[in-house]
Amino acid sequence: MQTDVIIIGGGLHGCSTALHLAQRGFKPIVLEKNIVGRHASGVNAGGVRQLMRDAAEIPLSIAAMDIWENLDKLLGPQLAETCEFIRRVGQVGVAASASELAWCEQRTADMKALGYDFEEMLDAKGVRQLVPSLSDICIGGIVSRRDGHANPFRTTQAFRARAEQLGARFYEQTCVTDVAATGSKWQLDTTRGQMRADIVVNCGGAWAWRIAEMIGEQLPRTHLALTLMVTSRIQHFLDPVVIGIDRKLSLKQTQVGTVVIGGGVLGDPDLDAGTTLTVADRMVESAQTVWDFFPVLRQATIVRTWAGLEAVTPDILPIIGASSVAKNFWHVFGFSGHGFQLGPIVGSLVSDMITDGKSALSIAAFSPDRFSNGAVARVPIHAAQHEQPGAAG
Ligand SMILES: Cc1cc2nc3c(=O)[nH]c(=O)nc-3n(C[C@H](O)[C@H](O)[C@H](O)COP(=O)(O)OP(=O)(O)OC[C@H]3O[C@@H](n4cnc5c(N)ncnc54)[C@H](O)[C@@H]3O)c2cc1C
Repeated sequence: MQTDVIIIGGGLHGCSTALHLAQRGFKPIVLEKNIVGRHASGVNAGGVRQLMRDAAEIPLSIAAMDIWENLDKLLGPQLAETCEFIRRVGQVGVAASASELAWCEQRTADMKALGYDFEEMLDAKGVRQLVPSLSDICIGGIVSRRDGHANPFRTTQAFRARAEQLGARFYEQTCVTDVAATGSKWQLDTTRGQMRADIVVNCGGAWAWRIAEMIGEQLPRTHLALTLMVTSRIQHFLDPVVIGIDRKLSLKQTQVGTVVIGGGVLGDPDLDAGTTLTVADRMVESAQTVWDFFPVLRQATIVRTWAGLEAVTPDILPIIGASSVAKNFWHVFGFSGHGFQLGPIVGSLVSDMITDGKSALSIAAFSPDRFSNGAVARVPIHAAQHEQPGAAG
């Protein structure tokens, strides 16, 4: 089988890249070793969040939000509806200590200095106006009112469906086992046989570093199992998404009344098996944090816990750009717990780069060469923002 572009990985980023490339006249093929949306893109918390992002990501995040708010233009009204995007309920970072509050003040000042006014400081009264059910532990916070949430699995499926309508082809249960350059083409060994393409895009999520190594490029290998849990249905008490500043907290109430709780508590990953385990003791810690902030949830029952495999980089910024060791090979991974919101724009920018060699927004900050073959990380992981991988909500 032969085509112009092969995309490895059927998560949201693979689907979005396929959609945008198909819009530009390419005939992309997406190869997915499981089923589309099986991993991070289908099992995440669905947070669509500009709040508390690294400054380098903000232009992309704002552009992504413009697409989220006009999904019908990209996907058509019916598919857009299936994404269940709940817009402009806001995401609120809640402070439980003087140092967290001081961090919020500094953060809003820093954002203003950069020319962004979408993050607003909240005092204790202001935070309770938005989230009346908060306990006294919360003394203020920060809000991004444009933020919301969506259904991650259905969103990923909607991007796939639109890409297929535009001519992209998807092969599930098809694992790429090797990649080699043959003349000006790439030859991929897969569990479905050999395939050839002019261009390859590596959207392999937690496994993407292994795909990079197939072409001799060493990129960060870190992957984490980020956990979530969900309660039984309870009476409506919450509109915005709430996330912790230093505490591992992220929660939202869905339209049907269940509460999805995350915040960066880790499970145990098994990359070879493609599975994860949640660890009861760690989930208890997460539940305790939720109890501290939301007494109303002491009545709730946890009905399910799960974890998703996510690629995490040392500076918690994604890797988006051309390979630094091979031509016509692109990397799009390492979203470090907050790549769902960026999905709609990253595929567009990468498609622009592949088509024209330039894109509407710069992706230079995310270049693979900041890590390639042992290069030192720009920022050590513990100092990168106030954000924890997976703290997205
Ligand atoms: C629990 C959890 C909560 C999160 N919450 C949020 C949130 O609220 N907001 C937010 O913005 N982000 C959130 N994220 C992050 C977000 O889900 C990810 O950043 C995003 O989905 C990554 O998409 P992806 O397409 O890069 O990866 P994935 O969805 O993991 O897709 C990669 C795909 O590549 C396939 N693949 C790998 N190797 C091969 C191969 N050799 N051959 C064929 N296929 C291969 C895999 O099977 C996989 O399906 C969360 C993540 C997790 C795990």
